[in-house]
Amino acid sequence: MPVIASFTLEEFLMEIAARNPGQPEFLQAVHEAAKPIHELVATEPKYREYEIMRRLAEPDRIVSFRVCWEDDTGRVRVNRGWRVQMNNAIGPYKGGIRFHRNVNESVLKFLAFEQTLKNSLTGLPMGGGKGGADFDPHGRSEREVMRFCQAFMTELYPHIGEDTDVPAGDIGVGEREIGFMFGQWKRITRRHTGVLTGKGLEYGGSRIRAEATGYGCVFFMQHMLAHHGRELAGRTCAVSGAGNVAQYCVEKLIQLGARVVTMSDSDGFIHVPAGITPEQLAWIKMLKNERRGRIAECAAQFSGVVYAAGRRAWDVPCELAFPCATQNELGAGDAARLAANGCLAVAEGANMPCAPEAVAAFRAGGVLFGPGKAANAGGVAVSGLEMSQNSAHLSWSGEELQELLVGIMHGIHARCVEYGAGKEGPVDYVRGANLAGFVKVAEAMLAYGVV
Ligand code: NDP
Repeated sequence: MPVIASFTLEEFLMEIAARNPGQPEFLQAVHEAAKPIHELVATEPKYREYEIMRRLAEPDRIVSFRVCWEDDTGRVRVNRGWRVQMNNAIGPYKGGIRFHRNVNESVLKFLAFEQTLKNSLTGLPMGGGKGGADFDPHGRSEREVMRFCQAFMTELYPHIGEDTDVPAGDIGVGEREIGFMFGQWKRITRRHTGVLTGKGLEYGGSRIRAEATGYGCVFFMQHMLAHHGRELAGRTCAVSGAGNVAQYCVEKLIQLGARVVTMSDSDGFIHVPAGITPEQLAWIKMLKNERRGRIAECAAQFSGVVYAAGRRAWDVPCELAFPCATQNELGAGDAARLAANGCLAVAEGANMPCAPEAVAAFRAGGVLFGPGKAANAGGVAVSGLEMSQNSAHLSWSGEELQELLVGIMHGIHARCVEYGAGKEGPVDYVRGANLAGFVKVAEAMLAYGVV
């Protein structure tokens, strides 16, 4: 007779904390998902019999490696790299690579855990993974970044493949870095297949991939508002970050008639009371993607732009907020201020940018809240479409892909509503996203038995 264990949520969380000491980001991500999932698991003995919850919180495997490279002065540098292969129940591991000085195993496990549920929520056949290195690209020359990417890939390549694990970009890894890594993978393996996504259009990349996360986040916000009888056009929006996600979030908001009054980087934020114009956004893209400069430079370049050093954007009154920079960039105080200033809704463009206390404050203040695993899933969804195009040796048009992205974000919203709508009140998108993501992965895991 199989043993069907029962455990309380608190027992589960204590056990996970004891198994993962010194990993606060990972514990935070598991905590957020565990409450709704535990409620479901309590009513479904099959999930308890097969220990789906415990298995989901334990990576399939983690590889870590030394990355040695030479800087421009000839000095040997040593970094640490990782790939967390979290869960491949519904498809090959899929998730980005992050280069940032704060990268460690906890951060990558949190991202890989989120990614597993997010990828499931897209409806596409992708498992969850994440990788990266504690390499800080700021201030590094292009050749240094190239040598680092090549050294990183030399260690990573045995662990990835178009049907096993397909990495992509994330913080500090854009099209340039993907190009360097794909070039090295191709040199080592002598193959040209879709082993990475986020590639340049000339060598197997997908149209709309660069835009997908930011655009998708805005589409998700539109759905949240429409479902609760509101519109996006004409709204005042605060966006944080100035990287890939933030740039295209701002672009789509402007296209849809919203007024975006902030953007930021890790040094501070710009306030543009009249709203960022398309010309200003084009300059910011050039600044960040080509010159690799600081957001502060906008204030000297344009009149009507105020720069606030060392501060975050959340004091600025807005109706919609889009945190698009990094984890835990929006705390309880920020959330309370946003709610007090009349914020209606928040969609997370970044992964876990809102601290748990901030999410609670939004809930208490009646602010609609779209968690990252739903709101920013457009990026990985188009990565999935890049994989499909690569394996079919085809290239779809921008219009076709944007239509697919619109449909996927619609589907994600619908699944969140299916699992997150209560009898009354606003939809609980945290509950909806976690449960909808969980059920598909859990059913696949049940099909395999104990493996
Ligand atoms: P980029 O590297 O392109 O941009 C990151 C932005 O966030 C930069 O403006 C950066 O400023 C800022 N930032 C980074 N770290 C910090 C920090 N500690 N404090 C304040 N600001 C910071 O990354 P992406 O735009 O690709 O990613 C942003 C977020 O979106 C991440 O959470 C990522 O995981 C998530 N995401 C990305 C997807 C994608 O398709 N790219 C898909 C889904 C989620 P600075 O230049 O000063 O470092």
